[in-house]
Amino acid sequence: MRVPLIAGNWKMFKTKAEAKAFAEEFRELYKDTDIRAAICAPFTNLDLLVDAFKDTDIMVGAQNVHFADEGAFTGEVSAAMLEEIGVDFCIVGHSERRQYFGETDETCNLKLKKLFQGPITPILCVGESLEERDAGKAEDIVKGQVKADLEGIAADDVKKLVIAYEPIWAIGTGRTATPEQAEEMCAVIRKSVEDLYSEDVADEVIIQYGGSVKPANATEIMNQPEIDGALVGGASLKAEDFMAIINF
Ligand code: 13P
Repeated sequence: MRVPLIAGNWKMFKTKAEAKAFAEEFRELYKDTDIRAAICAPFTNLDLLVDAFKDTDIMVGAQNVHFADEGAFTGEVSAAMLEEIGVDFCIVGHSERRQYFGETDETCNLKLKKLFQGPITPILCVGESLEERDAGKAEDIVKGQVKADLEGIAADDVKKLVIAYEPIWAIGTGRTATPEQAEEMCAVIRKSVEDLYSEDVADEVIIQYGGSVKPANATEIMNQPEIDGALVGGASLKAEDFMAIINF
């Protein structure tokens, strides 16, 4: 039984003061719901959010991690550092990291392996560009990412994984994939996991859709059988909007 998960990705937004104000408002709004919710925030806000949500079910995630245990990697943060803070999730391979910061399927794979050595659940992002979709390559691109990113990862770990399908052309553009397009690609992802592992493993993987999810389109997206949640960018910055998505 897959329990839906709606996660916010704040990207590079919110100072500590802003994060604190959000947390105070969101804690009050997030009540009487059985939909799991998480906020993936900049590193500087993680401590504060874990503390602000400690007596609630709201979970916290990071947006990146390095795959090494420690070392001379200026500007990077290790899995042990995140574990010490007590985060529940860590995004891996967001398209913005693939596009601007040289993230590759190989580094995503190393990061997944590192995270699976500890308690933090990875949220692996995959998705095609507009050019790739227009060329009819969307399925092959996404299948290729899933295969390469999961290379050598044990079935029991994959059962715990969250995969977010985020078509690059729908991120921050206001142009959401139609529910049918999102459903179709989430089904392709689940089938890829089934082909690589088994039906049992594929049945347990949480697959989210991400890309211009808003209160106005959350219901039709969440009602798709293969879609188990959403990874929400812009609309997760306002507590009321994020809560409206959770209450789809
Ligand atoms: P938007 O919801 O702002 O389109 O961002 C989606 C996203 O990239 C979430 O990771």
